[in-house]
Amino acid sequence: QSNLKTSETDVLIIGAGPAGLMAACWLARTGVLFRIVDKRSTKIFAGQADGLQSRTLEVFQSFGFGDRARKNANHFQEMCFWSPNESGDIVRNGRIPDSVPGISRFQQIVMHQGNIEEWITDSITKWSQGQGKVERATLPLKMSVDESLINDTSAYPVSVLVKKLNEDDEAVPEQYGAKVTNGLYRQFDGDQDQFYSDLQDGLLDDTHELIKCKYVIGCDGAHSWVRKQLGIDMIGDTTDLVWGVLDMVPLTNFPDIRNRSAIHSKDAGSIMIIPRERDLVRLYIQLKEVPRMKDTSKSEFGGGDAAVSAKGSTTGRVDRSKITPELIVKNAQEIFKPYTFDITDLDWFTGYQIGQRVSPQFQAYNRIFIAGDACHTHSPKAGQGMNVSMMDTYNLGWKLAHVCKGLAKPEILETYEAERIQVARDLIAFDHKLSRMFSGKPKDEVNKDGVDMLEFKEAFKKGAEFASGTIVDYIPSILEIKEATPDVEIQYYTKLASNIGIGRRLDSSQVMSQADARPYHLADRIPSDGRWRVLNFCGDVAKNAELAAANADFAKYLESKVNFVSNYTPVNARVDSVIEVLTVHASDRHSLEMHDFPQALWPKDSHGRSDYWKIWAGIGSTFHNGDCDIYKFFGIDTNKGCQIVLRPDGHVSHIVPLGAEGIKEIEQFFATFMIPQTKVLDIDITANDTGRFS
Ligand code: FAD
Repeated sequence: QSNLKTSETDVLIIGAGPAGLMAACWLARTGVLFRIVDKRSTKIFAGQADGLQSRTLEVFQSFGFGDRARKNANHFQEMCFWSPNESGDIVRNGRIPDSVPGISRFQQIVMHQGNIEEWITDSITKWSQGQGKVERATLPLKMSVDESLINDTSAYPVSVLVKKLNEDDEAVPEQYGAKVTNGLYRQFDGDQDQFYSDLQDGLLDDTHELIKCKYVIGCDGAHSWVRKQLGIDMIGDTTDLVWGVLDMVPLTNFPDIRNRSAIHSKDAGSIMIIPRERDLVRLYIQLKEVPRMKDTSKSEFGGGDAAVSAKGSTTGRVDRSKITPELIVKNAQEIFKPYTFDITDLDWFTGYQIGQRVSPQFQAYNRIFIAGDACHTHSPKAGQGMNVSMMDTYNLGWKLAHVCKGLAKPEILETYEAERIQVARDLIAFDHKLSRMFSGKPKDEVNKDGVDMLEFKEAFKKGAEFASGTIVDYIPSILEIKEATPDVEIQYYTKLASNIGIGRRLDSSQVMSQADARPYHLADRIPSDGRWRVLNFCGDVAKNAELAAANADFAKYLESKVNFVSNYTPVNARVDSVIEVLTVHASDRHSLEMHDFPQALWPKDSHGRSDYWKIWAGIGSTFHNGDCDIYKFFGIDTNKGCQIVLRPDGHVSHIVPLGAEGIKEIEQFFATFMIPQTKVLDIDITANDTGRFS
């Protein structure tokens, strides 16, 4: 065994789907050493998930590739509802906006998963200067943990033995219906246990490597190997409801084929229409006629994020080799009646069984984490799988970066499970309700227990808020200063910005640069680069002398030897590389000059260059982009102001009053989990280029 290649890395990511890539994106952006392996030899080229929700688009924007998404994808505006009339023919019975108006500056778009993975991969390449690459055809074989090293943050307690597969056969999923790419895998994905047991144990040779890791993230999908190694279950159930998916160009006289639509037919089942890029359309089609096998013990149905074992199925396992595009089209034609329906240019198809399952645990030892489909699976129609999976690692990535760089205590990693398990459970409850309403027959004279179509429409409308990802609300913790039980002081603080929810992501509105009058969305001034932000809403400092004095005092505090910014910034790092202070005032922009603001609020670098992009006017008229009033938008009184502490993932941690009391609050907040920095480090803590905004 002595010849076995051995290496070390800070973070090993297993699985390069959306969750794994998002984790890698954060680590590349923040300059942390990582590796990412995937058992498949190629990325995906067709099919799988396609919907990008508002919050995901905000995150893409914050990493710098939101424009690629908006440019290339299909944009949803309207959602239409169809159900049977008295004669049993389907008719349109309602329209709603697809995304809730005003919930975000970005609305739901659709694009196939392969493109989405490509944008993230390009970002990883850029930020890691080509170092961070997905190592494909690489399979983990064994994982062990040295428990004696768990509490040593500099140690590598997790060892993973990986094997480089032969790219031409071992790493290519074997499919049924090989003519068209599809999601029906015979083994490898659909039946990973079989695949592992078929692998010859053999001697360790030069295809093997032992990777010693500080942390491991299992992003290896619904059949997660990492989850199984940790002995973590998936809890929930799987129904007998089977749906087919087609990506194709439709030939039809159905009028809403280019609108997102939900169709309930009288007796033939339901359809969800997802109009896609390049004139493609995705249909989710309820399959009435499903080929089944006699054996009822276990479903091997592959494909779809709910493609997990169907224990509890009473009617026999689905025979996935008999799921064909023709069968799915036949089911669709019945539902579309009296409209005609046929297809051309079939791009991808699959079938899946509806189920909702979630793991009771998302981590072990605070060293190994699971994310995405590895810990929650559900039906795909609300377009949540890929989005929630990426948001899992968007939550985890910056925390790992902070701990690996020695900026924060490992305790912050505990908030990952606490915050994301709640989101997963909410998602499962949401999907459970919606998918059953979607699969149910419409209520009528005969079918009195059926689904009320008005209720269904309302459920969708309400669900759109949740599905957008913008109302995720993290629970109280060391990172979230809010009280489960009423606390007078915190209630008072919360009212200082009455439209902002502590625990939720900060929404964005327009502000104007004090230096050059250019309008920006505030969020575009807060990219995902691993930094904390303290937003200094200093109020109307031009007219209110008390506020002007408070602002001057705050600047003096920032200039003092020990303050909450300098305390956690490595000695040799730029002053704003860990915590950045941004000031948004409420005065007439023309009544103030840049130089009226103390220099500590727009500090100079070591070459004496000023940072002009830290002072913003929150109220006023732009020359070409309408008016700004971010104070009104956030519910902040211009004569009181406040300071808002923002996590690196854009969630609000704390709201405090201006002045000494607020400063003390922020000091106490950071003191619970940040590590005071006293040493000159030999690594570039500011990686990667968190620098000048312009
Ligand atoms: P995945 O995207 O599943 O990525 C997991 C990655 O891990 C894969 O690249 C895989 O090759 C790799 N991997 C797995 N096991 C190992 C291992 N042992 N070692 C190394 N690497 C491993 N969502 C929708 O919204 N709509 C849909 O229609 C839809 N259809 C789907 C069809 C299929 C066939 C699948 C698999 C998923 C589908 N989904 C759909 C779900 C959506 O794609 C997922 O929710 C989303 O991709 C989850 O991201 P993830 O990164 O957690 O997992």
